Amino acid sequence: MTIEHFFKNPFPHNKQSTKNVFKKKKFLMPTYRNLYIDGCCSDLTVTDDRVVSIEPADPTKEFDDSIDCNGSFWALPAMVNMHTHSAMTLFRSAGSGLPLQPWLHEVIFPREAQLTPDDVFMGVRQACDEMRASGTLALNDMYFHVDQAIRAVCQAHMEGNIALSVTDNDFNTEGEFRQLLSRFDSLQQQCGDDITLTIAPHSIYAVNAKHLQYLADFTHERNLPYHIHISETQAERENCIRQNGVPPVVWLDRLGILDKTQSCFIGAHALWLDDTEIALLGERHCNVVHCPNSNLKLGSGCRFRYVELRDAGVNVTLGTDGCASSDNLDLLEAMKVMSLLQKGTRQDPSVLPSHEVFQVATANGWHALHRPHRGLKPGDKARFFLVDINRNIFSGVTDPQLSPSQRQTLFLDRLIYAAHSDTIHPIPQHHTS
Ligand SMILES: [Zn+2]
Repeated sequence: MTIEHFFKNPFPHNKQSTKNVFKKKKFLMPTYRNLYIDGCCSDLTVTDDRVVSIEPADPTKEFDDSIDCNGSFWALPAMVNMHTHSAMTLFRSAGSGLPLQPWLHEVIFPREAQLTPDDVFMGVRQACDEMRASGTLALNDMYFHVDQAIRAVCQAHMEGNIALSVTDNDFNTEGEFRQLLSRFDSLQQQCGDDITLTIAPHSIYAVNAKHLQYLADFTHERNLPYHIHISETQAERENCIRQNGVPPVVWLDRLGILDKTQSCFIGAHALWLDDTEIALLGERHCNVVHCPNSNLKLGSGCRFRYVELRDAGVNVTLGTDGCASSDNLDLLEAMKVMSLLQKGTRQDPSVLPSHEVFQVATANGWHALHRPHRGLKPGDKARFFLVDINRNIFSGVTDPQLSPSQRQTLFLDRLIYAAHSDTIHPIPQHHTS
């Protein structure tokens, strides 16, 4: 549908109709009129996939291509799913009721052994559709058949990291490791600017120390992310202490891995940490990913030490994990669970207010991906989503008696604690292809 055609079908008040209009269209240079941003009714102009300007809404102003949002939508920067295995949409809810190790070995690994490249493509494509529909436009993925994941993520106009997950079974000899790297180089050529391809050691229990170090050298030389599951369960922590005399993060540091990887380190889960480990992660400017729904579903614990990690200087981000353990890829739900867990376990309702958990799911994620300048500021790549504020649960959020910052706070509270992702609009695409 062209912009001219769009003008013949002006943006209607009816929500269902507007959903369809956005779903079918690709806008190239639109101005979104009367759209709420940071508590103010605004005109937002996007050109060539970049935010050009955000100005107070002005009905007297004329724009070349405009879409009147009628004050019915609120725009927010897109979220980043910082730890997932997208293709696991194929195994949604598999093995419910099992703890991590039997779940992995009895349910997940046998099914993964049967997966074909086509299966992975379909699974990732489905995941991307789900993520886009719930306000997520970037991901940090870890799986295999990564050529198919690259194809699916590019088709969905998403961006981020795609990691080939490896265990010791994947490279027992030096020759096998070199073979893996040559495969990596050919795959990397398939990636455009939107995808960073890397190799991720699955975990310290699936990859031995020598291989963990190999991969740290490999990613360090190429300035690539080092994505690994770390300290997900109490058992993982205790086994590491038994085998190596120290807990997992200290073990990685002794191997020289944290010092080498620094801000490229992305530790998924980081649930069972002591003060020394938190201090080490902070000193090395590392990133960790909290996956609250997965941790709860697998019974891994409610131990995520958000405040201590934040205060130590660790960049805390948010993820869903794969659909086999989190059942969906909905970061709006994950924000609510994360915030409530922190308030409840610390017995302090002031911890992790809505604006802060939203930062964890957005800016902190983009920072960890080394892809800043995505969102809703002039000059940013246009990566945002729209929320339908015509729903009852958003009544009062545009009250003119409130200041813009009070409106923004009220809106975020309603979005995170009251709304579901069916209030989120499929994100308009501003791509030319
Ligand atoms: Zn995982």
